[in-house]
Amino acid sequence: PDRSLRGKVALVTGASSGIGAAIARALASRGAAVAVAARRRPLLDRLVAEIEAGGETAVAIELDVTDETACRNAVEQCAQRLGALDILVNNAGVMLLGPIEDANTEDWRRMIDTDVLGVMYMTHTALPHLLRARGTVVQLSSVDGRAAGALTGVYNAAKWAVNAFSESLRQEVTTRGVRVVVIEPGATATDLASHITHAPTREAVAEFAAALRPLTPDDVAAATLYAVTQPPHVAVNEVLLRSVDQQ
Ligand code: NDP
Repeated sequence: PDRSLRGKVALVTGASSGIGAAIARALASRGAAVAVAARRRPLLDRLVAEIEAGGETAVAIELDVTDETACRNAVEQCAQRLGALDILVNNAGVMLLGPIEDANTEDWRRMIDTDVLGVMYMTHTALPHLLRARGTVVQLSSVDGRAAGALTGVYNAAKWAVNAFSESLRQEVTTRGVRVVVIEPGATATDLASHITHAPTREAVAEFAAALRPLTPDDVAAATLYAVTQPPHVAVNEVLLRSVDQQ
């Protein structure tokens, strides 16, 4: 079977680091032209240079996904500069864990704005392109989108929302050829947990991560690549993956 993405255009949010950067590299390695979007422009420029050095096509788009107008502009920029939009990867996210009691509710707003509304804005504005292209939308959810626990309440709520929104979208668009893929990684070695503002929780998460062999961003990118390179009639709805060390 043809697993090439040559001729396809992908837009990856949160591509300046971690899983998003790995997914962008993986998509480019199969020949897709990739628009890499995030707030940290210098990191995007470096990734574009790396992909171009490998002989593939990439463009950088500065984007804050909490800004609906910026989301619309990013999708239009991608379509104009690369000619289409076949694969949208909603990867941008923050994970500001901590107890609900005495929480700084600014953390909650950042998580809901980024992880939930950002995904919704991007999906909404990209949908006409994806319907035209019979394309694919990939949502970076999490193991935390399937099992709730102490200290992860609002992150759980955010990823749960992504899963619900994605299943609803799937039912609306699948028979028109658009695939909706939900990727649910467990602990993955990235900077994600370093942004936790509640110090005791940040330390507890670092301890938890140090006690196992986490997934790498490339592991998650490989799962994503599997899902987006299936034949057009195959919809990989959900991929749940964990480190073997994670209970
Ligand atoms: P990173 O912190 O390395 O990456 C997060 C990315 O999101 C960065 O590129 C960041 O770019 C971007 N981002 C954050 N806020 C915004 C914003 N407002 N607008 C645009 N981009 C934004 O962490 P990961 O790679 O781990 O996270 C990627 C996704 O994977 C997230 O959705 C996360 O929830 C999910 N995930 C991660 C797991 C893990 O253990 N690491 C496990 C399960 C899921 P910039 O700051 O430049 O804007």
